[in-house]
Amino acid sequence: MAEVADLESQQVDKMETLTKTPTTHRTAEEPRYKLVAENIVATYNGIEAVKNVSMKFREKAVTALIGPSGCGKTTFLRCLNRMHELSKGAKVVGKVLLDGEDLYSNREDAILHRRKIGMVFQKPNPFPTMSIYDNVAAGLKLNGVKDKKIIDQIVQGCLEMVYLWDEVKHDLKKPGMSLSGGQQQRLCIARALAIQPEVLLMDEPASALDPIATQKIEEMINELKKEYTIIIVTHNMQQAVRVSDYTGFMYLGDLVEFGETKQIFENPRNEITAKYVQGQFG
Ligand code: ADP
Ligand code: MG
Repeated sequence: MAEVADLESQQVDKMETLTKTPTTHRTAEEPRYKLVAENIVATYNGIEAVKNVSMKFREKAVTALIGPSGCGKTTFLRCLNRMHELSKGAKVVGKVLLDGEDLYSNREDAILHRRKIGMVFQKPNPFPTMSIYDNVAAGLKLNGVKDKKIIDQIVQGCLEMVYLWDEVKHDLKKPGMSLSGGQQQRLCIARALAIQPEVLLMDEPASALDPIATQKIEEMINELKKEYTIIIVTHNMQQAVRVSDYTGFMYLGDLVEFGETKQIFENPRNEITAKYVQGQFG
């Protein structure tokens, strides 16, 4: 119960920070690694999709993963919150340290870890039978939050964070599926935020969306990174340039190059990276 109350108060605090604190008042903090992947090898039925990848993710920064289709981006992302092991025939070895603690050291804690490391998928997937309100509230209720006032407050706060509140505030009882694709994706992001993750994984979150909906998602990512550590897979290189601080280029299951986004795109050190960012293959 103490943990639930804690979740409630922390979530309200976080929301207040996001909605009330002017960005100019934020102090420049030392960059810190929130999540560290060490020697990740991920297989499907013994075949390696991710070969031996290590990567460090800065806290409250956006890291983009780019690379041609089939190079292991989704698989790697799914290793970061222990979702890979849910696929049939899938195995993972290596370490993923969240604030220094290895997610894989205790095999029982997967659900707790997935709460701390939220995920947004390529195709918007609102819970099909639920209203807009219930889509966001569902995770809170599952985590034992019962106070209706607090749930209302968190639902509104999360919908505000994804710039959806003004569009849906009079329609909260309508099905989540009645929204447009872009709105559904923002609803899914609000749903992920409601249970107060620390890291947000996004797998090509705008690939099914039109340019205006895509722009909204990108603006939102720029806001969210003030509070969350974000890792985004994208095949859209302009998008990586627009939204990310760091970029990792993956190819055939390996991490070929990692660096500041500007360096990766303007001054890549590796020949294959250079070809890829120049659009010579993909
Ligand atoms: P990306 O996201 O970069 O397109 P993926 O991580 O989806 O790449 O895929 C990496 C490799 O793993 C590919 O060769 C793909 O065919 C294979 N793969 C992905 N998902 C599965 C699965 N569920 N079962 C078997 N092989 C898979
Ligand atoms: Mg993928």
